[in-house]
Amino acid sequence: MKIRTRFAPSPTGYMHIGNLRTALYCYLIAKKEKGDFILRIEDTDQKREVAGAFELILQILDETGLHYDEGPEHGHYGPYIQSQRLDIYHHYAQELIKLGGAHYCFCLNDIEDHDPCLDLSPDDIQQKIQNGEPYVIRQTIPQTGITSFDDEVYGHIEVENKTLNEGILIKSDGFPTYNFANVIDDHLMHITHVVRGNEYLSSTPKYNLIYQAFDWEIPTYIHLPTVNKDETHKLSKRDGDASYLDLKKQGFLPQAIINYIALLGWSPESNEILSLEELIQQFDVHHISKAPAIFDLEKLKWMNGMY
Ligand code: GLU
Repeated sequence: MKIRTRFAPSPTGYMHIGNLRTALYCYLIAKKEKGDFILRIEDTDQKREVAGAFELILQILDETGLHYDEGPEHGHYGPYIQSQRLDIYHHYAQELIKLGGAHYCFCLNDIEDHDPCLDLSPDDIQQKIQNGEPYVIRQTIPQTGITSFDDEVYGHIEVENKTLNEGILIKSDGFPTYNFANVIDDHLMHITHVVRGNEYLSSTPKYNLIYQAFDWEIPTYIHLPTVNKDETHKLSKRDGDASYLDLKKQGFLPQAIINYIALLGWSPESNEILSLEELIQQFDVHHISKAPAIFDLEKLKWMNGMY
């Protein structure tokens, strides 16, 4: 089976070192096995979109040599753009409703008690929709049982289904939430290894319930620890922390940045400056550490001096 990974950024801020590390690890994991590395722009939360963020993602991947492999219709070179795929998500939302994995809900936010919506008959639902009542499509979560999976970095994870919330899959504006579009696309794009930040670890059981409802194969998960600016604070792309652009302005070379971030949370056998090719050879998922990494400007300066 061909390994396929994807880097799936939301263009909601300027890529920082942690985001770039996710892209790099996705790339290394795919290329080590002569697999494909896909770029997918997750732009379904248009309110949070930051102008220029998309172009910057393309520029950074290009400058650092992390070239992606394909785009729409396989063979057309370019990233997948979720906002251009809305029909696909609507189609699968309808399928999921038929399979019992989702339901219409006329309570639009997460705070209200929306249980009564579960009892609406198909006729009631049609009537409300015809009357122009706004609605969302929500995930239906089984109230019994547990969902478990094995993460390559964090090991075995198990949750009781009743602790998971019935999150929104399609919003009232017709856009899917990240949670839904992400699962549908990972399946349709034949992604074998999902590599992303560990903030998604707790939502992964909900995604797995969607895979199970469709009877789709669940990918291998590789969640990465955070990159922090100090002992207690995470880097934030909204605050512009350690942004690639900023580091470049300060004179850091793309190769030095890549080399430095490769070592954030992963220890290669040798301690030398490595080319991208050498990183591909040496990278080993099993050496990714669970502990948060800390961005160290001094070390980056030192590495920059080696080029
Ligand atoms: N779109 C998400 C983000 O930018 C990434 C989700 C994922 O990789 O699954 O954080």
